[in-house]
Amino acid sequence: NVDWQGKHVTVAGLGVSGIPAARALHERGALVTVVNDGDDERSRAQAAELEALGITVRLGDGDTLPESTELVVTAPGWKPGKPLFQAAAEADVPVWGDVELAWRLRGPDAAPWLAVTGTNGKTTTVRMLASILEAAGLRTAAVGNIGVSLLDAVLGEETYDVLAVELSSYQLHWAPSLRADSAAVLNLAPDHLDWHGSMDAYAADKGRVYEGNRVACVYNAQDPATEDLVREADVEEGCRAIGFTLATPGPSQLGVVDGILVDRAFVANRQKQAQELAQVEDVNPSAPHNIANALAAAALARAFGVQPSAVRDGLRAFRPDAHRIEHVADVAGVTYIDDSKATNTHAAEASLAAYDPIVWIAGGLAKGATFDALVTGAAKRLRGVVLMGADRALIREALARHAPEVPVVDLERTDTGAMSGAVREAARLARPGDTVLLAPACASMDMFVNYNKRGEAFADAVRELADESG
Ligand code: ADP
Repeated sequence: NVDWQGKHVTVAGLGVSGIPAARALHERGALVTVVNDGDDERSRAQAAELEALGITVRLGDGDTLPESTELVVTAPGWKPGKPLFQAAAEADVPVWGDVELAWRLRGPDAAPWLAVTGTNGKTTTVRMLASILEAAGLRTAAVGNIGVSLLDAVLGEETYDVLAVELSSYQLHWAPSLRADSAAVLNLAPDHLDWHGSMDAYAADKGRVYEGNRVACVYNAQDPATEDLVREADVEEGCRAIGFTLATPGPSQLGVVDGILVDRAFVANRQKQAQELAQVEDVNPSAPHNIANALAAAALARAFGVQPSAVRDGLRAFRPDAHRIEHVADVAGVTYIDDSKATNTHAAEASLAAYDPIVWIAGGLAKGATFDALVTGAAKRLRGVVLMGADRALIREALARHAPEVPVVDLERTDTGAMSGAVREAARLARPGDTVLLAPACASMDMFVNYNKRGEAFADAVRELADESG
């Protein structure tokens, strides 16, 4: 336990994690300095509030380590290569992220954490898990990268039996001492490589989620890279490796048999081969990648001792979040689907696999990705493609290499209004029975504030189209 009294702590970043961190540390007697890259109106207002409490804030200089700093607490998104962290390393000053801070500040009777990470499906899986835990009568919450701060959950008034925690690779990078009860890595595909520096570094940060697990390390039996991470992890004695698969499960696995989700890992009665958990139709939507998410959530819940009937009830009660393969409307016999949350190629691959024929709307910020495999896999199902955003040329070139016969409309505009043009072009390419799918395979920040705004722009444009066609 840390004695915070008089400790010099530098908080990096005035944001959703930095402000509560600065306050919590200040309340514990630490001498807090916040450093922030930006110096705009909003950060000045935030700084004024913190300064009124006696916290020092330096705006417009996020790269200089204040003298006498003993600990840096950083916003998870700050890149490891930033000069601030080089200075910290040279001065032998530890760096914690928001998750590490929450982990260290949690009370002695704090609820155990069931952690979920992976390239795609984290939010969905964590919400499914929370729904299952609730169905089991447990006091729980879905927290972490999902938008509910872990610090608030850990320090707040409310008490929990167990927390369903979504962790990003950034958060795991900065969380050296985190020890979850059980954890799952859903899948592993290239993403955020510009931040981590390499695929190995990205995988290693994801793998941190298994370190010190007490009960179970849940891995994807159809994604060997996740099992490798379990093998490399240092876990508590008795901690089990539990696999999930869309095929018939082996021992110590959950899987699918004849349209039924079954558990062979946590079977109470030795006579019994497998425990039935739920029907495939209980999962909403019951696309293959989402069944995988449901199995991962079920594995974590079962590891925590949840009964099969609660798994079924929890999955039935689950409703997906917006912009995740969301049905927007049918116009002139064409179905419009919003998967704006497909911000990388691995996610787009899952939704492209679910429809045929497709008019695909894609493009945005590629984050260092390549598109050859994605385009090759989808080529046969593409009626046409509409491209937009900063890195659209990368997708256009991959299409030219692997699907030269597919018509491509290249929208040169990269302003917010371009979405309505994209939807019009897609409608022109589509025939009745087709699906127009927004699955950009790219981040949105070149054109939109975030993927929510991108999805809303798509839905607005589709509704406009529907109004016009009466
Ligand atoms: P995350 O929180 O990891 O970003 P979400 O649950 O928000 O994941 O889903 C994001 C997108 O990833 C979805 O819109 C869908 O396109 C895709 N997706 C979801 N689950 C999976 C999965 N298990 N495998 C591959 N893609 C997935």
